[in-house]
Amino acid sequence: MTRHVKVLILGSGPAGYTAAIYAARANLHPLVIAGDVPGGQLTTTTDVENWPGTVPAVLGGVLMEEFDRHARTFGAEVVQDVIVSVDFGRRPFVLTGEFGAVYRADTVILCTGATARSIGLPSEAAFRGRGVSGCATCDGFFYKDQECCVIGGGNTAVEEALFLSNIASRVHLVHRRDRFRAEPALLDRLHARVAEGRVALHLSREMDEVLGDDRGVTAVRLRRADGPPETLPVSGVFVAIGHDPNTALFVPALAHRDGYLQTGLADPAYPMMTNVPGVFAAGDVQDSLYRQAVTSAGSGCMAALDARRFLELTAAAVAAE
Ligand code: FAD
Ligand code: NAP
Repeated sequence: MTRHVKVLILGSGPAGYTAAIYAARANLHPLVIAGDVPGGQLTTTTDVENWPGTVPAVLGGVLMEEFDRHARTFGAEVVQDVIVSVDFGRRPFVLTGEFGAVYRADTVILCTGATARSIGLPSEAAFRGRGVSGCATCDGFFYKDQECCVIGGGNTAVEEALFLSNIASRVHLVHRRDRFRAEPALLDRLHARVAEGRVALHLSREMDEVLGDDRGVTAVRLRRADGPPETLPVSGVFVAIGHDPNTALFVPALAHRDGYLQTGLADPAYPMMTNVPGVFAAGDVQDSLYRQAVTSAGSGCMAALDARRFLELTAAAVAAE
């Protein structure tokens, strides 16, 4: 099967669906490739409390069903496929799905998201969404006045610990080495919270088990080189050991920094365009900093508007030749 579309969108998270809504309303008949996680990361969580306009909280899966319905209402087409190869050296661009479908596209919007790294413990996976989280901004409020721990020693872990220290009764920051890699300004703020008793540091320790029951997490077990294991009673565990953007298919063909696609460098007139004219990126795949549903949706909108303008100007240039 071969299809030719004006706008091909990879990914069905907040960025992909928002791009689809804008492209569909511009009469560009976008095609969304849903990928292996239809609905994206939010389908892996329960309550989303910071999506504007939804009080009380909306379930992540329900919110993404609404995104899907919204995009289809305006004529976007969504197909269940995973792109396994891309050729951005030809025009139209050529992308191939996992069962051999070939998609030719005048523009492509990459919204393939990022994946939070996990430590890889079976108990971590078993309690994910029931006490184990990868996002304090998203889930921290559920642990108001309770004890939590954060795993990691980089900027994200320290930021998560600082954020949680305003919500939780106490935050335990667990790091496998004896020093943090987070930047000094963040560490100054961290040590101030330690002095106030809001944060406790547990260095040279690795979490080797998440403990809990039917109601969720009750503690973590920490392994250390210089003594017997420790048990830390907590109700929330925030794993903050980094994210991997889903860009293996696109690098090195597309410019990136630490794997995140870079946009707006080749042509400042198109803030969401990669270094290949006509290929745009939005959401967590190009944003290592904010990684929120609302920011992803916002950049999906921007990418679709950029793509529309790109198509208009390209068509005008061809007509003028
Ligand atoms: P994603 O949601 O990651 O979607 C990526 C999409 O790309 C998926 O549909 C996937 O199938 C597709 N894809 C990947 N590879 C391919 C391929 N090769 N071909 C085709 N498709 C592909 N944010 C908030 O604002 N509030 C919250 O409460 C919140 N809670 C969260 C809870 C958890 C547990 C997690 C993990 C994240 C949470 N986030 C929250 C963050 C939020 O989910 C992300 O910022 C947001 O989903 C990013 O949207 P995105 O569209 O960029 O990518
Ligand atoms: P990171 O810098 O790669 O740090 C990951 C941390 O997790 C490291 O301390 C690492 O330990 C630890 N870790 C990795 N694998 C582990 C495992 N299996 N078990 C236990 N611990 C493990 O990731 P990040 O903190 O998410 O930051 C990613 C990038 O975003 C960085 O460039 C960062 O500067 C940037 N960022 C910036 C800001 C900001 O500027 N405010 C905020 C957030 C992120 P080791 O130290 O032993 O390697």
